[in-house]
Amino acid sequence: MDFDYSVEQDMLRDTLASYLADHYDFETRGAVVATPAGWRPKVWADLAERLNLLGAAFPEEYGGLGGGALENAVVMEELGKALVVEPYLGTVVIGGGLLKQVGGALAAEWLPRIIAGQAVLAFAYSEPQARYSLAEVATTATKRDGGYVLNGRKTGVTGGPWASQLLVTARSGEGISLLLVDADAQGLTRSDYPTIDGGRASDITFHDVFVPAERLLGAEGAALPLVERAADEAICALCAEAVGGMRRMLADTVAYASQRKQFGVALATFQVLQHRMADMFTALEQSAALTLVATMKLDRPAAERALVASAAKAQVGKAAKLVGQAAVQIHGGMGITEELALGHYFRRATAIGSQFGSTDFHLRRYADLSLADAA
Ligand SMILES: Cc1cc2nc3c(=O)[nH]c(=O)nc-3n(C[C@H](O)[C@H](O)[C@H](O)COP(=O)(O)OP(=O)(O)OC[C@H]3O[C@@H](n4cnc5c(N)ncnc54)[C@H](O)[C@@H]3O)c2cc1C
Repeated sequence: MDFDYSVEQDMLRDTLASYLADHYDFETRGAVVATPAGWRPKVWADLAERLNLLGAAFPEEYGGLGGGALENAVVMEELGKALVVEPYLGTVVIGGGLLKQVGGALAAEWLPRIIAGQAVLAFAYSEPQARYSLAEVATTATKRDGGYVLNGRKTGVTGGPWASQLLVTARSGEGISLLLVDADAQGLTRSDYPTIDGGRASDITFHDVFVPAERLLGAEGAALPLVERAADEAICALCAEAVGGMRRMLADTVAYASQRKQFGVALATFQVLQHRMADMFTALEQSAALTLVATMKLDRPAAERALVASAAKAQVGKAAKLVGQAAVQIHGGMGITEELALGHYFRRATAIGSQFGSTDFHLRRYADLSLADAA
């Protein structure tokens, strides 16, 4: 396997890093997440227009730059380093990823809008009883009058308040269908709230929401494989974001321990703290390596793809906890104060730990898939 990034991927990372250094410092970010809106549409417009970044992972036929999952990983790692809240995951990785999978007229219509920053998407798949199962869907899509009528409830829809369209999973007959729904559709009610990591989410209720048949992604009742693939893509992207966050937590900790004096010497001269920071480094690099492998295997057959995605998610979940806890401990109590960036990174890392399945969930999924493979 070739683990080197291409010149274009390096340029993508450098361009984004330089933009974020100028526009996304910790104080500005803190002020923005405290506003009622909670995000900056201007930043989103910049990512689309100034940086041409929202098209990095899409084929040229849709107006993209011809990249794929690796470009998403490069972007997500940088977003993780700066604690960016704007919805790249929901809009580009998941929303755009699903449209790219189905292709056809919907992709031709919506991918250019995503790339231009005009359509902001959120993935409405989770329900209170689902417990990380993508197939556990009670929301219904009933065929009527040249379209579908949606009824049901979705919870914890990340980026819900910012979305212009929602991708909604719903049961139709025996299977699961996927529908692109306008966020202001009649019969749709949203309850928005802030999340612990500085983001926003919504609980959404659908009461007889009519969706035209052209807004169906893929075949009716056959969307589960699409959704499973999108979830594995999301997992890889989240792992890359967590790696970015861990890099920052480790860098801040090393800098602090090198500068803070105790008993007349820098904390970093204590061997036990050096060992802790070496453990943090190892956990981080193992996570980065496994994330890269999982990202590169996203095009492999479903079982192989899922196995390595779960391996990465479980590793990243454990590592982010280790890195976050060690960082806080080495900083002392101030590591969990609002004023220091560290605690905010740890919160985001903790939230990632439960997005698209907890560490325990992915360890079990990995074990089940390994046993099935061995049988
Ligand atoms: C929100 C909050 C809640 C808190 N709750 C409690 C509480 O319930 N109980 C309580 O007792 N305190 C509490 N504290 C205080 C906190 O424990 C101290 O801030 C912490 O002990 C760090 O001590 P310090 O302020 O002297 O930091 P620093 O002197 O800046 O020390 C920073 C780091 O250096 C390490 N260190 C210090 N001395 C040595 C040494 N000799 N050798 C090697 N490493 C060393 C420490 O482990 C610490 O991680 C709280 C603080 C906050 C902000």
